[in-house]
Amino acid sequence: MTPNKPETPETPIQEKTNLLGMTLAELEAFFLQLGEKKFRAAQVMKWMHHRCAASFDEMTDLSKKLREKLQTCAEVRPPKVVLEDISSDGTRKWVLEVGDGSHVETVLIPAGGNRRTLCVSSQVGCSLDCSFCSTGKQGFQRNLTPAEIIGQVWVAQKSFGPRKDSANRPVTNVVMMGMGEPLMNYQPVLSAMQIMLEDNGYGISKRRVTVSTSGLVPQLDKLGDEIDVSLAISLHAPNDELRNQLVPINKKYPIHELIAACQRYLKKCGDSREVTIEYTLMAGINDQQEHALELARILKPLPCKINLIPFNPFPHSGYERPSRNQVMRFQNWLHEQGYSAPIRTTRGDDIDAACGQLVGRVQDKTRRSARYAEERIPAALIDSNWPSAG
Ligand code: SAH
Ligand code: SF4
Repeated sequence: MTPNKPETPETPIQEKTNLLGMTLAELEAFFLQLGEKKFRAAQVMKWMHHRCAASFDEMTDLSKKLREKLQTCAEVRPPKVVLEDISSDGTRKWVLEVGDGSHVETVLIPAGGNRRTLCVSSQVGCSLDCSFCSTGKQGFQRNLTPAEIIGQVWVAQKSFGPRKDSANRPVTNVVMMGMGEPLMNYQPVLSAMQIMLEDNGYGISKRRVTVSTSGLVPQLDKLGDEIDVSLAISLHAPNDELRNQLVPINKKYPIHELIAACQRYLKKCGDSREVTIEYTLMAGINDQQEHALELARILKPLPCKINLIPFNPFPHSGYERPSRNQVMRFQNWLHEQGYSAPIRTTRGDDIDAACGQLVGRVQDKTRRSARYAEERIPAALIDSNWPSAG
């Protein structure tokens, strides 16, 4: 007779709810569902986002019973910091592990006075394949969750210690200009930005949270209906023929449609606002006088400012950065047309700390940590007018 094997009941492992990425409304619903009072949501939000608490034990104004209850079904799980690097000019850079072996980078850039701008990623990779972008060249891997997006702000804030008062915020500005196309990951990006704005969250002003997009018109219209944040458009070309080559999504949403969407967006903003136009200058491609003049002409109907970004080279890109003189000439042509057009520049040749160019090397996982340890963050000298908001 064969002895009966003891039965091993297949108990599914219950995933705990990560509270970090929940908006106030979602947290309120969560506590109500738990049979608790709604106001617990604001309390827990403040613990997570003001005081950087990652465990319920720290939340001393919750009863012991409630803390125990939360421990059974919930957690506060920020992304894991793989590497933190602080440069001599105060730029801080983090490599974050976001599950399934993926990594994203986040950079905090001091921008004069008490201003510190955090460049936040929205996706691992990007599917839009802009021809000059190293993120685009890596293809798309996955969307980040709200907790992984807001977790980047959490990590940056945590590195300064708990917030003492609202006047002394470690992160004063956020730009969604890291890896990925924010509007291709619409709902999680929206939730994360709501937490950025929310008083119980990071309490950052709507003018100081900027979403940067290559121009997804329907999502832009939706965004304007649902939140009021600043807008940056990655234009990079003054006509459809050239933009189709550089930013392929332009074939779907050509420039005149994009500009009209920007105008609609500005109308929905609660105050008078300008769109920031990002224009990456590539030698011999889009840096000639005819381009500057055409750019100035097409932007006339749109309240905007132009940020010039000298192309950031990467291996096999096929593009080159224009000479400093050419960049200045381009700026001058725009000046003559009435645009101030600040240049987003860097100190030294390497601008790896610039947003949008963060993660190329992170994806190459070979000797990743060792290489990061060997390298120093290049000191990014960001024009005081960049990013636009604030
Ligand atoms: N997907 C979004 C936000 C991330 S990219 C967008 O496209 O707007 C952030 C900025 O960096 C964009 O303006 C993008 O066009 C720019 N960028 C990408 N690759 C670059 C490069 N090699 N040199 C300079 N700027 C670059
Ligand atoms: Fe994606 Fe922006 Fe890079 Fe284009 S520039 S591939 S939209 S991250």
